[in-house]
Amino acid sequence: MTKKEGHNITERPPVIAIMGHIDHGKSTLLDYIRKTNVVGGEAGGITQHLSAYEVVHPTALGQEKKITFLDTPGHEAFSRMRERGANIADIAVLIVSAEEGVKAQTIEAYKSITETKTPFIVAINKVDKPNANPERVKQELADIGIYVESYGGSVPVVPISAKIGGGVPELLDMMLLVAELEELQGEPDIPATGYVLEANLDPKIGVTCTLIVKNGTLETGDFVAIGKDYAKVKKIENFLGQTVSGATFSSPVRIYGWAQIPAVGAKFQTLKSKKDLADYLDLYKEESPTNNPGPDNNSQNDKHSDRLEIPVAIKTDVYGSLEAVMKEVAKLNSDKVILKIIHTGVGAITENDVKTASSSGRSIILGFHVKTDRGATDLAAKYGIKIVTFDIIYKLSEWLVEEIKTRTPKERVEEMMGRAKILKIFNRAKDKQIIGGQVIKGKIVKGKEMVIYRHDREVGRGKITDLQEKKIKTSQVEEGAQFGAEIDSKIIISAGDLIEVVESVFK
Ligand code: GDP
Repeated sequence: MTKKEGHNITERPPVIAIMGHIDHGKSTLLDYIRKTNVVGGEAGGITQHLSAYEVVHPTALGQEKKITFLDTPGHEAFSRMRERGANIADIAVLIVSAEEGVKAQTIEAYKSITETKTPFIVAINKVDKPNANPERVKQELADIGIYVESYGGSVPVVPISAKIGGGVPELLDMMLLVAELEELQGEPDIPATGYVLEANLDPKIGVTCTLIVKNGTLETGDFVAIGKDYAKVKKIENFLGQTVSGATFSSPVRIYGWAQIPAVGAKFQTLKSKKDLADYLDLYKEESPTNNPGPDNNSQNDKHSDRLEIPVAIKTDVYGSLEAVMKEVAKLNSDKVILKIIHTGVGAITENDVKTASSSGRSIILGFHVKTDRGATDLAAKYGIKIVTFDIIYKLSEWLVEEIKTRTPKERVEEMMGRAKILKIFNRAKDKQIIGGQVIKGKIVKGKEMVIYRHDREVGRGKITDLQEKKIKTSQVEEGAQFGAEIDSKIIISAGDLIEVVESVFK
């Protein structure tokens, strides 16, 4: 354990997702690892209760290290976490059959891996088969942009036979090595946070939920909140179904006693006291637009009162995704624009939502995985409110970015039209001065505003009220030419000053 800035920070076991094309051996690999490495189960007959399990694997230096495996259909869990921006897996294993090579879902899985920026290892499986051709697989991987070690790249690759276990210890070694390089860390002394892996409704025992702890420690007696639903932790079960008094990273646990079925991938937060829980739930009061809609509410303490404010209402299918959408929305705030969340909720977009949103002017109603009631569409058209719904979170962000662009007023900037050097002062009366100068860049234009510089510093402003070239009145004088001008300015201009004629443009 190392102490850092007063926090207790320790190494954290990696959470692994196995991904790849169907029939390439995901389940076989997960089964093999479970059978041979799970500690604490009955020999040969482990009953796994949760959709994740933990193993202990010795390192080359003889240390025993934990690894957690997600045992959900890899890709599904991955795409869900991608939608929510949830960071459940620390490392992915992309499994590719040595017989079949790269297939459609291999490419899809790789896409998810790159989009979530998850470090990954390639496992070339079924090398025991007579038609296995690992070299061809490496070539095919290179064709889709995955350059493995020994094939001109740096992606770790391990040949395995998930069925008979060949190469599996090396694969586990590699996971620990990648974990070490990633410097995965956790703080055991803070209340646990993590994600929902699975949720079920059992008619006898109610809603149970499998959580994976990604940081902190969870203990019996804590409260666990997911969105605005919460449960008091009376019993914690580990993945073997055993009751434990606490759990820390990266353990999967089962918790009972939820009022609703939470969304897979939703984030949970542990709270140590009723008071903490009450404060936390306050952030989720969302029915009234005057209430603070959540932890990422961004309308508080706004120091940039001149920012463009876009009122946004958010409706999602479940609270887990509400939190994720609010986070995405908050990310788009800038010095110039604030997306003010005026209303949030779960369920279809209704007339009521439109009414609530309409009180804030040109609002946007964002829906995520929800439908829009007919009445809501009609009413929104009447009020001029935009309703847009999405199923993929990055599409929602993309749309918002465009919307912000079209709504942001163009900024007034000053462009320099020309610069001149003052050569002589002929006459000065009150604010009017007759000067002689030479254009050194661009052009000098009558009627325009100008900035006066002395020794490279702006000393004031003025206006060219009259302009002459070779004693003939003109509206502008080009680069290189000398001119006489009448200038209206409170600044007393001297020979040697520079003047710059500027023009306001909107950009
Ligand atoms: P999944 O769809 O990716 O989970 O694939 P499975 O684990 O269900 O494997 C599909 C088939 O390939 C099953 O019949 C497995 O027995 C077989 N299989 C998986 N790994 C190996 C292996 O390393 N060698 C051999 N010979 N067969 C394997």
